[in-house]
Amino acid sequence: ATPTSIMVGTGRAAQLGVLFRKGEALQSLEKTSVLAVDKTGTLTKGRPELTDLLPAPGFDRLRVLGLLAAVEAKSEHPIARAIVAAAQAEGIAVAEARGFAAATGMGAGAEVEGVRVDVGADRYMAQLGLDVSAFAMAAQGLGEQGRTPLYAAVGGRLAAMLAVADPLRDTTAQALRTLHGLGLKVAMLTGDNRRTAQAIASQLGIDEVVAEVLPAGKVDAVRRLQARYGVLAYVGDGINDAPALAAADVGLAVGGGTDIAIEAADVVLMSGDLAGVAAAIDLSRATMRNIR
Ligand code: ADP
Ligand code: MG
Repeated sequence: ATPTSIMVGTGRAAQLGVLFRKGEALQSLEKTSVLAVDKTGTLTKGRPELTDLLPAPGFDRLRVLGLLAAVEAKSEHPIARAIVAAAQAEGIAVAEARGFAAATGMGAGAEVEGVRVDVGADRYMAQLGLDVSAFAMAAQGLGEQGRTPLYAAVGGRLAAMLAVADPLRDTTAQALRTLHGLGLKVAMLTGDNRRTAQAIASQLGIDEVVAEVLPAGKVDAVRRLQARYGVLAYVGDGINDAPALAAADVGLAVGGGTDIAIEAADVVLMSGDLAGVAAAIDLSRATMRNIR
C-alpha cells in the first residue's frame, strides 16, 4: 500500500470516530476473518443492575444486601457498583469493611462488623468450600434470561443468591448484522457465567462463545481462534483486555475504556461501540481496493 492512500484511509476513518494509532492496522483489518469481542462494556453497556436477591433460609434480605454493599464499596467492578447502588436505593446505611480482597474474575470478600462476607461466582464459592446446589434451579432460570447469578456467603454460610443484568448497547444488534454481512465470524469472550453468555450470544446470533475465562485465558482463546479462523481482530475496553488486544492481529479499544486498553490497541473506537468496527472494516476494504 502507498503511504498516501493509507493516510487518506485513516483520515476518513477518523471522521467516522475510528482512530488508527498504527497505519499498518488498516491492512491487517482488511484481511480480518474473525472478530473476538469482550462482552461486558463492549456488547453490553457495562452498567449492570441488581435484578434478584433470594436470601437463604434464616437470612434477612436487607441485612444481606447491606453486608454485600459494604464489601463491594471497596471494589471497582461494575457488579460491585450495581450492588452498592441497590443498597443505596433501599436506604441502607453501609458499614465500613476491613481487609477487603478481590479474587480476579471470581468475586470479593472482606470483614464487615466482625463477620466475614464474600460475594461472587459459583467458582468463588467452590473455592470457599461452599455448596450452592440449593440454588441450582433458580440460577439456571436466571442464566437463561441472560442474567448473571452470584452468591453471597456470610460468616462462612451460604446466605443468598443474587443476579445482575447488564443491558445490551442499543447499537449492538445492528452492528453484528453488518459484521456478519461483511462475512466475518464473531466470537464473544467473557468472564461471565456460561449459561448467561450463551443466552446473550444466541439472542445476537454470535458464532462462538468462550465463557468463564480468567483474564489470562483471553489470550489463549485469541490464539485458538486465530488457529481456527485466521486473521483476528479483538475489541475490548478493560484492563483485563490489554493482553488480548496485544495478542490479536488488530486490537481495537473502545473509547472511554481504560487507558491500559487504549495503550495496547492499534485502533481506538471513539463511538464506544461495535458500529465503528464495521465502518473501519468497510473502509479498510475500500482503501486497499483503491490501491490495487
Ligand atoms: P468480564 O469478562 O465480563 O469483564 P470479570 O472477569 O470481570 O468479567 O468477572 C467475571 C465474574 O467474576 C463475574 O461475572 C462475577 O461472577 C465475578 N466477579 C468478579 N468480581 C466480582 C465482584 N467484585 N463482585 C461480585 N462478583 C464478581
Ligand atoms: Mg470488559
